[in-house]
Amino acid sequence: GGGIEFNNVTFGYSPEKMVLRNVSFTVPAGKTVAIVGPSGAGKSTIMRLLFRFYDVQMGAISIDGQNIKLVQQQSLRKAIGVVPQDTVLFNNTIYYNIEYAKIGSSADAVYEAARSADIHERILGFPESYETKVGERGLRLSGGEKQRVAIARTLLKSPIIVLLDEATSALDTHTERNIQAALARVCTNRTTIIVAHRLSTIIHADEILVLKEGNIVERGSHEQLLQRD
Ligand code: ADP
Ligand code: ADP
Repeated sequence: GGGIEFNNVTFGYSPEKMVLRNVSFTVPAGKTVAIVGPSGAGKSTIMRLLFRFYDVQMGAISIDGQNIKLVQQQSLRKAIGVVPQDTVLFNNTIYYNIEYAKIGSSADAVYEAARSADIHERILGFPESYETKVGERGLRLSGGEKQRVAIARTLLKSPIIVLLDEATSALDTHTERNIQAALARVCTNRTTIIVAHRLSTIIHADEILVLKEGNIVERGSHEQLLQRD
């Protein structure tokens, strides 16, 4: 599951100024769509609408064919996992930072889940064990490593949709791409939305939408968009 449809969505924070106009797109279940555009284009607004922080003025948003107006915000929060652009880690072990996602489960269950999902190898991909304290490496845990901890933390919630927010990423292009690659490796069957500033940082998207001033002005594969430039 996890297919998303925006059908002629029009939204403004105030009635005088619409920030999204007739935005339509679909993300088939299990596919990846990237939304790129300059700041102020409406990227974060799209994400907020998915969580129903606001309801749309016109049009409709559905997940797996169901209008999200009929879905509780709490259920949406469970269904959608966000990998935020600035990950703040607790000054504790890497394990603790990941485990935090699963409050309510026993520590052993979390540890097993993490192992069986091969998260240590495939997402973290750095040599430290779970028990290493983030603080012991201090600020030497790189931005990319922090985001990989965030990916692990997000995926342990088993969301059907994953949002990777690199909208105003402070990470360099190389690291940003590596994180998308890490996410793609573990999200083959998950619906994924990547939000970013620049087309050049996007890898592995089935479709790219270019958003400007609340309108989708271009859409296509990476190759198609580069050819048009
Ligand atoms: P992006 O994520 O692409 O930078 P946003 O979705 O944050 O763009 O913003 C789109 C437009 O909506 C901008 O003009 C912004 O100023 C406006 N906006 C964003 N958040 C709010 C808000 N909470 N109240 C009023 N206007 C907002
Ligand atoms: P992280 O995602 O953890 O921030 P990177 O993805 O930047 O780390 O780096 C992954 C590996 O690639 C590291 O071993 C790093 O030393 C190496 N590396 C980083 N940048 C470059 C580069 N520009 N050219 C070659 N190797 C690099």
